[in-house]
Amino acid sequence: MSDKLDAILAAARSHATNVIAPNVDAWNASKSWPRDASDKAGAAGLTGLYAPEEWGGQGLSLSEGIQVYEQLGLGDGAYAFALSMHNICTFAGCGYGTEAFKEKWARDLTSGRKLANFALTEPQSGSDPMKMYTRATINDDATWTISGSKAWVSLATEADVYFTVVKTSDAPGHKDMAMIAIPADAPGISFGPLYDTPSYNFLPMSEMYLDKVVVSEENIILSIGQGLQGSLMAIDIARVSIASGCCGLMQAALDTALSYSKNRKMFGGKNLDLDGIQWMLGEVATDLEASKLLYRKAAEALGTPEGPLMAAHAKRFVPDAAVKAANTCTQVLGGMGLLQPYGLDRLSRLAQMLRIVDGTTEISRVVIGRALQKRAASLPDLTVPRGFGEKATAPTAVAAE
Ligand SMILES: Cc1cc2nc3c(=O)[nH]c(=O)nc-3n(C[C@H](O)[C@H](O)[C@H](O)COP(=O)(O)OP(=O)(O)OC[C@H]3O[C@@H](n4cnc5c(N)ncnc54)[C@H](O)[C@@H]3O)c2cc1C
Repeated sequence: MSDKLDAILAAARSHATNVIAPNVDAWNASKSWPRDASDKAGAAGLTGLYAPEEWGGQGLSLSEGIQVYEQLGLGDGAYAFALSMHNICTFAGCGYGTEAFKEKWARDLTSGRKLANFALTEPQSGSDPMKMYTRATINDDATWTISGSKAWVSLATEADVYFTVVKTSDAPGHKDMAMIAIPADAPGISFGPLYDTPSYNFLPMSEMYLDKVVVSEENIILSIGQGLQGSLMAIDIARVSIASGCCGLMQAALDTALSYSKNRKMFGGKNLDLDGIQWMLGEVATDLEASKLLYRKAAEALGTPEGPLMAAHAKRFVPDAAVKAANTCTQVLGGMGLLQPYGLDRLSRLAQMLRIVDGTTEISRVVIGRALQKRAASLPDLTVPRGFGEKATAPTAVAAE
């Protein structure tokens, strides 16, 4: 591991321990994004992970930077998710944005002074992005006029710029899709009421309405035809980031259970002396180790032809393991596991949220299923042995008794 990565992971761990964990309940109660915390994350180098150093970023590879969310997930998975989305947008802006966009935004994004988020989902199109309606018209002066509605926009009202996927014609399909960065203060942009989410209320989320919003061509991040493909690449990075964050969540749940169980007296000994309890927590520990190996392998594969499939494997397996881990650890504490100060109920809900966001578990299964079909097509045919079932008779109707 490079010294630089070591330092960033240590900074992320310290941020989780000293900034997120002690404050997350208060953030939820206040229902507001902790901008002072994300400012601190920026100062610690956690908001420009993959952006080049010349723009103020850390210049880490994806497989290195993604490990940061495992550390942040020790504090809170929703906070880790929000920073992961900001980092992906910053990476896209610094990598694919125009020079003018970079001059205007890159340093503010890498430093965390400004926050970015990604807006793809619409009320009628979540798993199926082809059903997207948000439409950009290209004007004679090359500006774009954008109208439509986005849904589930994280950091809604808080981000300074929204990397928005749009269609540029009425033609069905994705060949006209593009991504453009819409500044939060552009006239015509507005937000619906914030969604109420009991366990991560500090993460503002709502619909975003675009009413003839005019944006400069300098803000085009992915040109026409690249919008869907680029978004899917971004989502693959997000899927592995979520798996990384889930590992932090699992570690937090396991450590809470161990801290309690080693002291809880019962049957003349301690809760942790019981074989059954050790087996339950042992399964969590194995799932955690497997999850770490899987997300790190998936992170290495990003950008290669294996990337989408490996991201799907990680997103399918790890959040499910996190749900199981959070529930098992709650069970180990008995009734105490349900009480707020232990935070396990929050972790269960967070893990469930992480099964949905950035492509549900079922969509990961769809990706894996397609890969299996492709593999099956490349394998020799395996048929039943000659003569097998030749004498089978058609089922006869069972006589009514
Ligand atoms: C906390 C949170 C934050 C989010 N932040 C953002 C954001 O910042 N930007 C953004 O663009 N989006 C964001 N999203 C949206 C998220 O990506 C979508 O919720 C997700 O893609 C699922 O879409 P949906 O909710 O519309 O569910 P739907 O697409 O309506 O799916 C409903 C159910 O059908 C299942 N399903 C779908 N297809 C199949 C299939 N082929 N086979 C079997 N089952 C299937 C799904 O798995 C799901 O269980 C966020 C979501 C959450 C929960």
